[in-house]
Parts: sequence; C-alpha cells; structure tokens
Amino acid sequence: MSGNNEVTSVPLLDVVRDNQPLNEALVEAAARVIRSGQYVGGPDVQALEQSVAGFCETRYAIGCASGSDALLLALMAIDLQPGDEVLLPSFTFFATASCVTRLGGVPVFVDIDPLTFNIDVAQIESQITSRTRAIIPVHLFGQCAGMGDILDIATMNSIRVIEDCAQSIGATWCGRQSGGIGDIGCFSFYPTKNFGGFGDGGVMTTNDADLADRIRLLANHGMRPRYYHQAVGLNSRLDSIQAALLNVKFPKLGEWTVARQANAAFYQKAFTEAGLGGFLKAPVAEPECAHVWNQFTIRIPGGQRDAVRQKLNEARIGAEIYYPVPLHKQSCFSEFNTNRTTLVETERASNEVLSLPIFPGLNTAELEYVVDRLQMILCGRESSLRRVA
Ligand SMILES: *Cc1c(COP(=O)(O)O)cnc(C)c1O
Repeated sequence: MSGNNEVTSVPLLDVVRDNQPLNEALVEAAARVIRSGQYVGGPDVQALEQSVAGFCETRYAIGCASGSDALLLALMAIDLQPGDEVLLPSFTFFATASCVTRLGGVPVFVDIDPLTFNIDVAQIESQITSRTRAIIPVHLFGQCAGMGDILDIATMNSIRVIEDCAQSIGATWCGRQSGGIGDIGCFSFYPTKNFGGFGDGGVMTTNDADLADRIRLLANHGMRPRYYHQAVGLNSRLDSIQAALLNVKFPKLGEWTVARQANAAFYQKAFTEAGLGGFLKAPVAEPECAHVWNQFTIRIPGGQRDAVRQKLNEARIGAEIYYPVPLHKQSCFSEFNTNRTTLVETERASNEVLSLPIFPGLNTAELEYVVDRLQMILCGRESSLRRVA
C-alpha cells in the first residue's frame, strides 16, 4: 500500500498481506510436499522442530495439531489425575482451562495484575493446596508473566510449570525465551498468532528428556512400537504441509516481531503526543520483558469501551475484545467458579480492554489513521464521551 493513498480502513489483522512477500516460496513448498507423498511427520516437521528448539533455546520441540492440544498433551505428560488442581488465570483464551477439565482436573482461577493482564503472582500462594499439581502462566498478548516468583513458588511446592506461549513466541523474561523457562512451553501456529500457519498446528518445548519422550509418545496414540500401545494418547501431529510452510516463514519471524514492536512504540508515542493519556490506558511493557505484541490492548475505563469500539468499527478500524467473558464466568465452567477469591481485576479488564491493529504489515498512514480516529472519538468536539481517567 502506498503512503499517498488516503486510508479509509484498517483491518485488525491481514495475514494475506503479511504472507505476501513469501507467496512464491510458500506455493513451491506446498507443491513439494504434495509431490513427496509424505503428509504427516517427516523431514519438514523435524526441521521445524529443530528451528523452534533452537529459537526457544530448549533441548526439545515436539510438533502437534494445535496449541490447545499442546496444553492438553503437556498435562497428560505430567500425568495430571482427576481431582488434581491447576492454577491459572481466568483472563485468557478458553483452551488454557479446558485442557485441565478434559482430564478431570480442577482449574483454580487466579486474578490478574491490572498492569500486565498476566496472572497476579502475589495471589498464587494462597491458592495452593495439597491437590495442586501445576500452574499454567499465560504470557498474554505477547508479554511474559512474572516467571521469577512463579518458578520460586513452583519449586517450593513441587508443582509443575506449563507455560501457555500461544501468544508469546519470541517474548523473553530476563533474557530467557518463553517456552524455555518452565517445565513445558505450549505454542500455537493458529493463523492469528505471531508465527501463524495456514490452518491449525502447535508445538511443545522442554529441556526434560523424559517429558519430551512422553509427549512424543502421547501425541501419537501412545503407540511404540507401531500398533503396540503403552498409553492412551491422542492423534495430534503436525501436518508436513504446515511444517513446510512454517519453515518458509521462520526466517522472517524476527523481522515481523521487530515490526510489531515498532508499531507498538508508534502508538505509545502518538497517544502521548495526542494527549490521550487521560482517556485511555496504553499497555505497559515490563522492563525485564521483551514484549512481542500479539495484541496491542488498551483500556477504556468508565463504561465507554463498547461505544468506542463501535465508533472505531464505524470508521472501518478493526478493534476486538480479548476477552469479553472471563473463564470463571463461562457457563461450562460454572462448577469451578468456587469464589475462593473474587476476580476483581479480571472482571474489570473484561469490561475495559480493546485490542487495536498491530500486525507487522501495517503502514504509517494506517497507524496515523487509527490514532486520529481514536483522538476524534475520545476527545474530539463531536465526541459525546466524558473524560474519565
Ligand atoms: C490461541 C490460544 C490457545 C490455543 O491455540 P490453538 O492453536 O488455537 O488451539 C491457547 N492459549 C492461548 C492463550 C491462545 O491465545
């Protein structure tokens, strides 16, 4: 898109635009797999697993069918038993908790830190019981949770740490890559993620040889050798064609992350210059974290979020709410909403958050258009909204 063209719309996400420079190589890779006859596993999957392990600085990476399956397989690998409790935030995507309940486990929801949207590490210890087996910190929106405290608590209480890295590939905490900090890292290749494929896919990372072996077994029907089943596993493997396409995209991951970070920096600076600080709260990157901005999520306090979103959508700007209903309020989890604590910050976030376009291919004119419209909506003369924050 040329900067001369006047911008009249900005999508929340444009995967076609981001993939465009690679189209030829992608088509060629798909054609090669089609001709090869190897459609599950094989050298393309092995190459991707090696790239991911190298990138995450872990000894092992094991492909699977989705990020949701990665979480499920991780809990199966640590042998989660019915009745076992798993600590996790309620302010996250559904799959962070469904992996627990599918195994008969009990999700114990912990409130979030209002600044980072990640699990509030100060509220973890009080939720630990003799049944607690694991904690699933989610590196939400692309920023690592407070892993220092989480690792300390986990070690002291002998519980496992399963990182939900679906939104955080490339994010670091104290210089360490997400996915290599806890016992197992679970990544998603869903198209909207920072390393998105062309369908579903996922990968797990670990430094533990026994866990890696167990995960590989469980992802393939617990079958070893062929047609002899040691455990009841899943059929959850990464398709060769997904791996081949992701291998084409992998060399660009760093560049795309830098573009997301530049877009985030643009918004942060422009919001300050436009004097929007009194009307919205921009997201905060912690000093010990490299944020990879899967989402750029602002807060609009004062009950005006939905009106702002509607006006943005009327201006043809994609803006979405992640997540409108926290997990402890989902009807399918009503039996687990035991109110051991009230999740004040989780519920507040659900009412205030709004995610803006941040994808790598955005151009400056589009970013300016988003800021201009936000300024008009929030503090323009035609705006009926009150100054609240
Ligand atoms: C996307 C996502 C998942 C699930 O990944 P899928 O590949 O879609 O199954 C899990 N957790 C979080 C936080 C996610 O954003």
